[in-house]
Amino acid sequence: MKVLVINCGSSSLKYQVLDMDTEALLCKGLVERIGIDGSVINHEKTGMDKFVLEAPMKDHKDAIAHVLDALTDAGHGVVKNMAEIGAVGHRVVHGGEKFAESVLLTDEVIDVIKECSDLAPLHNPANLQGIEACRALMPDTPMVGVFDTSFHQTMPPAAYIYGLPYEYYTRYGIRRYGFHGTSHRFVSARAAKMLGKDIKDLRIITCHLGNGASLAAVKGGKVLDTSMGFTPLAGLIMGTRCGDIDPAIIAYVAGKENKSVAEMDKVMNKESGVYGLSGVSSDFRDIEAAADAGNKRAELALKAYVHRVKAYIGAYIAEMGGVDAIVFTAGLGENSKVMRKDICAGMEELGIKICDERNDVRGRETLISADDSKVAVLLIPTNEEVMIARDTVALTAK
Ligand code: ADP
Repeated sequence: MKVLVINCGSSSLKYQVLDMDTEALLCKGLVERIGIDGSVINHEKTGMDKFVLEAPMKDHKDAIAHVLDALTDAGHGVVKNMAEIGAVGHRVVHGGEKFAESVLLTDEVIDVIKECSDLAPLHNPANLQGIEACRALMPDTPMVGVFDTSFHQTMPPAAYIYGLPYEYYTRYGIRRYGFHGTSHRFVSARAAKMLGKDIKDLRIITCHLGNGASLAAVKGGKVLDTSMGFTPLAGLIMGTRCGDIDPAIIAYVAGKENKSVAEMDKVMNKESGVYGLSGVSSDFRDIEAAADAGNKRAELALKAYVHRVKAYIGAYIAEMGGVDAIVFTAGLGENSKVMRKDICAGMEELGIKICDERNDVRGRETLISADDSKVAVLLIPTNEEVMIARDTVALTAK
């Protein structure tokens, strides 16, 4: 079966078509500036040059129409007509407590996703626009929703509840949800495969270190804890997000700088993290270069980043009663050997020992721990799209 995977943002849309008989990627693409001047689609058929088309796209429906044109084009297309696409898988950011698994998208399910929009006002409405546009243009094709939050729904209450009045949980759903779930699920399953073990017998710490970043403690295939929280702002220091801070800082700085809560929210989401610390960039390549050139704030940003990741790894080892494997994934985790080495440094007593030679790799599935390391340290490129497509096949083949 050929599956179209859609990841819809507010003004952008990423897509892939996979042949799920072999899990081969047939094409991928990105539509940008939807609803604003200069809308453009970048389409790449596997093995061919990029096809780029600028055309006005006033909304997601226009954008999807251009995607369907690209998919069925005689030259750079991958199907003769859309009937060849057996199903569509949609990434949905927030499923609240309603969705612990991926689901077939029906009218009722879509209504429930709408209810969850309150929890992810920047993301879910955009995801829903993509779903509605696809349903309008492909009314007979089954569609599946795959949630960033669902893998984390196995967390026990003690891990997801905040130390706030309990009514905030019952009234407003204030709790830890966690994100990047599709990535944590994909890499933890791959880790078990690579180690030739049943995931039920493993304690794995998955480190998704990209622009946004989170860790998860996966014990026996279930999430026991994760670093992101009610929103993706919590946990690690990220590209531009602050991660965990003393919550009292918000009121204090808002008073000093005469800022509103909304302005503080913007500072914590867009002007903080390694960007705010270093004053250089949110991209770790720039920060590593600046630190190498002697920039002290860039050096501090990297050290603070590593410090926080280590703190979470330590917490998760304690929570799981040990660890069998640590997995690095996403932009930074897959590409920065320095970061992987610094994070694992000094944890030999805990049985974690990286092999410098093995660690000298990028973007390839491989073991990077030393032979005498008790804990397996793995580099596993994430693939959220294939995971979405797998769920889509599983739910629509029924
Ligand atoms: P997103 O969260 O946007 O999906 P990615 O997982 O693609 O992010 O990660 C992007 C980040 O990965 C970049 O901002 C950059 O900091 C980091 N990165 C990518 N390549 C490298 C590299 N070679 N060295 C260090 N950092 C890298």
